[in-house]
Amino acid sequence: MAGVRFDAVGKRFGAVEAVRDLSLEIADGEFMVLVGPSGSGKTTALRMLAGLEAITAGSIFIGERRVNDVAPRERDIAMVFQDYALYPQMTVFDNLAFGLRRRKVASDEIKRRVEEAARLLDMSALLQRKPGQLSGGQAQRVALGRALVREPQVFLMDEPLSNLDAKLRTQTRGEIRRLQQEVQTTTVYVTHDQVEAMTMGDRIAVMNEGRLEQVGTPEELYERPANRFVAGFIGSPSMSFFTGAQVGLTLPRNGALVGVRPEHVRPWREGLIGPLQGRVAFVEALGRETFVGVDVGEARLTVFEEGRAVREVGDEMEFGLIESGLRYFDADSGASL
Ligand code: ATP
Repeated sequence: MAGVRFDAVGKRFGAVEAVRDLSLEIADGEFMVLVGPSGSGKTTALRMLAGLEAITAGSIFIGERRVNDVAPRERDIAMVFQDYALYPQMTVFDNLAFGLRRRKVASDEIKRRVEEAARLLDMSALLQRKPGQLSGGQAQRVALGRALVREPQVFLMDEPLSNLDAKLRTQTRGEIRRLQQEVQTTTVYVTHDQVEAMTMGDRIAVMNEGRLEQVGTPEELYERPANRFVAGFIGSPSMSFFTGAQVGLTLPRNGALVGVRPEHVRPWREGLIGPLQGRVAFVEALGRETFVGVDVGEARLTVFEEGRAVREVGDEMEFGLIESGLRYFDADSGASL
């Protein structure tokens, strides 16, 4: 087993700086998620770690070994992609065994590893099937199994769930997490989905425009975002941003940009900051709870209400802010204050 270290790593494609000065340490056995919007450099960072992309600045270490010039196959990693290709004419067992046979692993050792992977993935009953006889979720489990039987130092996963439907995605998310906890192999997992990041990562590295914006546990990112970008990216529905002047309030830190999550914006009652008054712009009713977008002056805030929707677009609404939920950011740089 081994940790991973990016040390001031950069990647340039001509004029595009896909990754800038990335320094990130991933502990042995840790599940690290790289998350960020499209084009933020996540995949490039992962591909450099895999050896599929040359590094233009800095160093990458797997364990103690600097791997900048080490060929992909010598890095002792296993990758899982969203597009996994299984061999259609081979059984699941043979699909899992294929890479090991090519590496001349002894056949009783292959049998042991394949059966162990099948047990971990709860697919022992599927070993004699062919890929055509599997559901999408089962096929994705075989793809995971192929990485697992390698028993690598590090797993690299690039959006492995994005071809699954929503329900299966949630389920497989849990399975990957459980699996990783059982085998405790260092894992670097790329996704653009912040919910996936929040539910899977021991820690999360948030990237934006090639830069690492913040790295921390899901709770740290949610409670103490380092800047406006992270604050807006993590959490769903998103944090609302406004200034006191925009909504006609005098707030503890005047002039700063204020961020507040929906759960800290509630229909008016005594004890809240306010009242604020605005017009309902949208209603997102989820059944047990409802998010209501309200336009106040030049700002739009999302209000959280328990229960079913009782408001309609165009309604006037009074609401207030829970003070402990307010976060302040520098209006120019976006840095947390
Ligand atoms: P996505 O979620 O869309 O995959 P990402 O965060 O993984 O995005 P990257 O794929 O790492 O982002 O891309 C980062 C930047 O580098 C983008 O601007 C992209 O256009 C650019 N880029 C990536 N690969 C190449 C390449 N082979 N040649 C030129 N530019 C590239």
